Amino acid sequence: MAEQVFTYITYKEGIADDSALELVAAAKKLYPDASLTAVVTGSGADLDKICSEMAASYQEVWKIDNPELAYPNAEVIQKLLVNILPKDSIFLVSHNTFGMDLSPGLSIKMETAFIPDAVDFEGLEGNNLKVVRQEYSGMASTHVLCDISAGAVINVRPGVFQPDESKSAGGAVVDKSADAGELSASRRFLEIVEAEVGDVDITKEDVLVSIGRGIEDEDNIEIADELAEVMGAVVSCSRPIVDAKWLEKSRQVGTSGQTVKPKVYMALGISGSFQHLGGIKGSPFIVAVNKNLKAPIFQVAEVGVVADLLEFVPELTDKIKEG
Ligand code: FAD
Repeated sequence: MAEQVFTYITYKEGIADDSALELVAAAKKLYPDASLTAVVTGSGADLDKICSEMAASYQEVWKIDNPELAYPNAEVIQKLLVNILPKDSIFLVSHNTFGMDLSPGLSIKMETAFIPDAVDFEGLEGNNLKVVRQEYSGMASTHVLCDISAGAVINVRPGVFQPDESKSAGGAVVDKSADAGELSASRRFLEIVEAEVGDVDITKEDVLVSIGRGIEDEDNIEIADELAEVMGAVVSCSRPIVDAKWLEKSRQVGTSGQTVKPKVYMALGISGSFQHLGGIKGSPFIVAVNKNLKAPIFQVAEVGVVADLLEFVPELTDKIKEG
C-alpha cells in the first residue's frame, strides 16, 4: 500500500502560500508513491477556492470549514489535527512562522517524532528517515536519522524544494468539517495589523540591491545607493541592518521581514541565512558578493563574486556608468 502523507496548506487573501506545492515535492521525495492529502482549514469563499486548486496537486483535500478556523490560530489547528489525523501520521508543514508555532506542540500531542527545518530527505533505513538539516547559518550540513515508526511532524524549510507544478493528481475534496471536534482555545485572534509600508515597497521591485552586515558601516550604504541608482534598482537589506537602525524595517527581506519576488537580487555582504533566503521567492537571478568563499549565499547564487564589496561595488558602479 502506498504511504499516506498529510500536509497543511497556508493561504492569505485567497492565494495559497508557495509552500503548498513545495510540500508536494517534499512528500514525493520522502515517499515517491505516496498518496498525498492536503488539510485546508478556514471559512468562506477563499476556503473553497484553495481546496479546488489543491485538488489538482493532491489525491485528497480535506476541507474543514469552521468559523473558529477563519484565522490560522496554531493552538486551534493543533486541536483540530489531533482530532482528524490518523495515528502514526506523517505530517508536513512549512518551516515558516506558523509551522514553527504549530509543530512542536502537535508532535507532543500526537506522540510522534518532530523534525524541524528539514532541507532534504535521503531515504529510509528501516523505520529511520535520513534527514538533512543545516547548522551554523548554513555553514555545515547535518545528516540525522530519525525514527518515524510512530509517525512524524516535519517542518520543511521554505524554498528548498522546487514547487511541484505537475498538477496531475486529479484529487477529490472531502468535507471533514463534521470531524473537527471541539475547537475552543485560550489564545484568541484579535486583528491583523498590516506591516507598515515605508518610503518604498520592495515587494513590488524587479531589481533589488540588498545589503547585509558586510557593508560594515552606515556611511558605506551610499555605495549601495549609487549602484542601485545606476541599475534602476532599490536598496533592501538583511535584518542586522534594520536592527542597527541603518534602514527602515520595510526594507528588510526575510521571514520576519518582507517577502520579495524580484527578477534580479544582488546580495552584498549577506551570508545567506535561511531566515533571509526564506523571504526571497520566485527564483530570481541572484548575484552574491561576499569575501568568504564558504558563505552559504553562494549555494543559491547564479553568479558569485568573492571580493571585498567595499572595493568591488564602486568599481561595478563605475563600469555600468561607462556603459
Ligand atoms: P552575517 O550573517 O553576519 O553575514 C555577513 C556576511 O558578510 C558574511 O558572509 C561575511 O563573509 C560578509 N562580509 C563581511 N564583510 C564583507 C566585505 N567587506 N565584503 C564582502 N563580504 C563581506 N535575517 C534576515 O535577513 N531577515 C529576516 O527576516 C530574519 N528573521 C529572523 C527571524 C528570527 C526568528 C531569527 C532568529 C533570525 C532572523 N534573521 C533574519 C537573522 C538571521 O538569522 C541572520 O542572523 C541574518 O540574516 C544575517 O544577516 P547578514 O547575512 O547580513 O549577516
